[in-house]
Amino acid sequence: MTARHLLLVGGGHSHVEVVRRFGHRPLPGTTVTLLSRDRFTPYSGMLPGYIAGHYRYRDVHIDLQALAATAGIDFVRASVSGLDRDAGTVVTASGAAYPYDAVSLDIGSTPDPGETGADRHAVAAKPIDGFDARWRALLERVCADPTPRRIAVVGGGAGGVELVLAMQHRLTGELRARDADPSVLRFALYTRGTTLLPTHNPRVQRRFRRLFARRAIDLQCGQAVTGVDAHGLTTADGRHHRADEVIWVTRARGADWLANTGLALDAQGFVRVSDTLQSVTDARVFAAGDIASMDNQPRAKAGVIAVRQGPPLARNLRRFLRHQPLRPHHPQRHWLALVTTGDRHAVASRGAFSTGGRLIWHAKDWIDRRFMRRYRPARDATPGV
Ligand SMILES: Cc1cc2nc3c(=O)[nH]c(=O)nc-3n(C[C@H](O)[C@H](O)[C@H](O)COP(=O)(O)OP(=O)(O)OC[C@H]3O[C@@H](n4cnc5c(N)ncnc54)[C@H](O)[C@@H]3O)c2cc1C
Repeated sequence: MTARHLLLVGGGHSHVEVVRRFGHRPLPGTTVTLLSRDRFTPYSGMLPGYIAGHYRYRDVHIDLQALAATAGIDFVRASVSGLDRDAGTVVTASGAAYPYDAVSLDIGSTPDPGETGADRHAVAAKPIDGFDARWRALLERVCADPTPRRIAVVGGGAGGVELVLAMQHRLTGELRARDADPSVLRFALYTRGTTLLPTHNPRVQRRFRRLFARRAIDLQCGQAVTGVDAHGLTTADGRHHRADEVIWVTRARGADWLANTGLALDAQGFVRVSDTLQSVTDARVFAAGDIASMDNQPRAKAGVIAVRQGPPLARNLRRFLRHQPLRPHHPQRHWLALVTTGDRHAVASRGAFSTGGRLIWHAKDWIDRRFMRRYRPARDATPGV
């Protein structure tokens, strides 16, 4: 019997669980290969805590190469740039082609700056390694030269809210530790929506509005950003707002190369999938996480959704390769979101429920660390900083 090939493209939140499961229970006659652009992949739930200074790099990153080695599957560090569905191969940016019997995509989303100029003048929060380098540089600049600066975050979802609060906590803390005046730093958040955290209940929104007021973060709701330049940003009403740094945490789309695959994509370029997490165009192509757009059950782009898709994705890939019928996945409609506030406090939000405080942060910390332990192999080489 010739070996079947399962290719996992991208080391996102769903695929780390697929790798773990195929390691625990290998599928005879199948070689599994994980292709990912980065060796160290971040866990989104802990990213704001990393920015705030509560975690080190190694606390929030999974070493994909070590995880794959432990699971007995191949790891290739490569950026995938195409899918030749007729030939049944995945093509990388360096021109290598990898044959597959089934392929699964978990490559996350790409920032969509549109025509705003944000691609040249703003720092995108994703991919996170690019952001990490710019963030470290900003941290050094601010510490070396604590002069007045205005830092603007664009995006009123959980990512933008957590990021501005985490950055403020860290940067002002660093200045205080150096006996410098933290009030030289000004922070602002711009969102096109009429409120921040639009997918959360009004009590959560009020909590964060009050918190922003207490922390003197300039909250600009109903302000769609139409331009970003070297001196700041412009909003839809034509006003220019000075900013020394602009961080882009809004509007995401699917990777450009997907447009050439012939797969059905939604309006934002994400892969349209059925309830079995298979492309609606091609049953051999699976997708999960941000890059997947479920036709029948649309959900927000969130790490928690990607994490929960891991087990059903692993099960269906296994069943597909065994020619067994696949099972539908029904993602939760509501889940408990724990939104951090930068300072080891968090707000719990689910449906109409909301509560907040230090205990919630500690509960989240415990849950997140437990999650990371599942993917930390013995020979993990994640840098410790
Ligand atoms: C600042 C910030 C904070 C956030 N906080 C939260 C939070 O607290 N809770 C929450 O639920 N969500 C949060 N999110 C959203 C969350 O980050 C995403 O929903 C989540 O990361 C999506 O996971 P994923 O598995 O789809 O992809 P990702 O985690 O983005 O992983 C994609 C993987 O694919 C690889 N890859 C990408 N392109 C290629 C390619 N062409 N070839 C090969 N490999 C490739 C990457 O290297 C990476 O390993 C936050 C987002 C941001 C920006």
